[in-house]
Amino acid sequence: MHCPFCSADDTKVIDSRLVAEGDQVRRRRECVSCAERFTTYEVAELVMPRVIKQNGSREPFDESKLRAGFARALEKRPVSVEAIEAAINHIKHALRATGEREVQSMVLGELVMEQLKTLDQVAYVRFASVYRSFQDLAEFRDEIERLEAEPAVD
Ligand SMILES: [Zn+2]
Repeated sequence: MHCPFCSADDTKVIDSRLVAEGDQVRRRRECVSCAERFTTYEVAELVMPRVIKQNGSREPFDESKLRAGFARALEKRPVSVEAIEAAINHIKHALRATGEREVQSMVLGELVMEQLKTLDQVAYVRFASVYRSFQDLAEFRDEIERLEAEPAVD
C-alpha cells in the first residue's frame, strides 16, 4: 500500500495483530522511502452488493422482496419454510462472495432460479416463465422437457 506521507509505493508491515475480538487486523507499517510509520485496519467487507436493474437504476438488496418472490413462486407447494430460508441464505452468501459492490439484477434472478430448481420444479417453471418471459410456447415447452429429462434431486 502507498505511504500516506510521501506516496512511495513500498511500505513494510512491522507488526500485525488481531483486534476487536479477532474481527479486525491491525497492521503497523513503515515506509521504505521516508521511514514514517502508520497503522492500517483490515476488516472483512460483508455488505450486500446493490442491485443494478434492467433500466440501469440501482437499488439496495432487499431481502424481504426476495422472500416475497419465493413465497409467490412456492405458493401452495410442498416446500418448508426452513428450506426457503436456507435458499435465501445461500443466495445472500453467493452475493457477498462475489465481492462486488453492485451486481446485475440478472445475476440475482439466476441465483433464485438455481435455488427454485432444487426446491420445487413447478415453482421453478412458474418463476422462470415470468422471469425469462419465454419468447414463445415452443421455448417454454423445451424448458419443461429439459427439466423432465433431468434426474430428480432429493
Ligand atoms: Zn513515505
